Amino acid sequence: MNKSDLYALLDRRADDFGEIAGALWDYAEMAFRETKSAALLCDVLEREGFTVERGVAGIPTAFTATYGAGSPHIGILGEYDALSGLAQTAGSAVQDPPTDQPGHGCGHNLLGSGALAAAVAIKEYLADHPGRVTYFGCPAEEGGSGKAFMARDGVFDGLDAALSWHPGARNNIAAGSTLANYQVLYRFHGVASHAGGSPHLGRSALDAVTLMNVGAQFLREHIPTTARLHYAVVDTGGFSPNVVQARAAVLYLMRLPEVTDLPELYERVNDIAKGAALMTGTTVEIEFVKGCSNMLLNTPLMKLMYDNLTATDALTYTADEEALGREIRKTFTADDVFPYAMDIDPLEETETPGTGSTDVGDVSWVCPTAYCYMACKPLDTPGHSWQMTSMSKTQTAYRAMMRAAKTIVGTAVDLYENPALLDDIRADFKKRLDGRTYTCPIPKDVVPRALDDLK
Ligand SMILES: [Zn+2]
Ligand SMILES: [Zn+2]
Repeated sequence: MNKSDLYALLDRRADDFGEIAGALWDYAEMAFRETKSAALLCDVLEREGFTVERGVAGIPTAFTATYGAGSPHIGILGEYDALSGLAQTAGSAVQDPPTDQPGHGCGHNLLGSGALAAAVAIKEYLADHPGRVTYFGCPAEEGGSGKAFMARDGVFDGLDAALSWHPGARNNIAAGSTLANYQVLYRFHGVASHAGGSPHLGRSALDAVTLMNVGAQFLREHIPTTARLHYAVVDTGGFSPNVVQARAAVLYLMRLPEVTDLPELYERVNDIAKGAALMTGTTVEIEFVKGCSNMLLNTPLMKLMYDNLTATDALTYTADEEALGREIRKTFTADDVFPYAMDIDPLEETETPGTGSTDVGDVSWVCPTAYCYMACKPLDTPGHSWQMTSMSKTQTAYRAMMRAAKTIVGTAVDLYENPALLDDIRADFKKRLDGRTYTCPIPKDVVPRALDDLK
């Protein structure tokens, strides 16, 4: 099979992958709880003839599915986790959450199914060509850094390249780095007491959280301007103002452009926590939850993916789809334009890191890695939004998902057909590593934890 045969195969089977994306959307399972989602993907891959290994890296919802033999060995990264509180009626332009449950506000149902479509098409190619493909079932991109745990366990070792995509509002290649991060839980312990009758006998853990957050605000001026600090109070110690709160916990997310700079920021935030404990007569437990690395770009691999993206057909939209896009755009802008990105953005590599993070970064330190964005939602639609959940179960998004699958398939086929392309890709990878090797930012003894375990 050549590329156009594979694209035709993807067109024929588009409804199957749309259905899978729809099922993942319905499951909407959060980080490390993606039991049904992972099972569905594993079952499909097994039926397609892949050798599936479930529960890799000790994570029940992480898996690998491999087909073929020898080299090149190309990895396709799939995600399928949802976000808290973003349930939304599909295809609706009004905020209409049917429940307070999680929703696919980052479109990972599309990501997982589109990557699956790519892996299945590549399998057809490999039926009569040398080479191997592995679909990596990567849980907990949101708040869990599943790939970093998998990388810590060596799951991505030996790959010649890794490819993926992400639903977006534009069509382009991810050509900027991402921020490395640490997520750390600070759990304060105090002494309960009657807040009116005997406050002098109490030691407030909630006060400690408040003072820690104040300390962190003052810290901001004295850390690199590229650093980002965010927090969520995950335990306020209860609902009774007439009780001195004996326990409280705050979850911090610290971000910097270079993973190697994070330990210093981490220690400074730890000092603020310890200071808050000292001020309030409480104690603090510091629990490292997860971390991920910044993305190492790979110029030749990005270019190859860009060439394959530009070779795919532009999408067309029905009048109803255009109307939905315009209505959704009205919820955040008055600027009334054709609602979908029709063009492919030029490939413009930038050394300036973005403002977000992804655990794809960890894979990029293990092997050359590239991914593209495909327009699954109206232009400028914010990420992590009900609007994105709404779009993530529509034919509009499914068509973009299949275009992403074609881009990945085309890139992979080029690498199988012409393994010499990997020489430049490897040289670029080596240059970016600059003598460094991958060190997982997550200490060895830290186990993956679901977000609802962090209370
Ligand atoms: Zn996200
Ligand atoms: Zn995402």
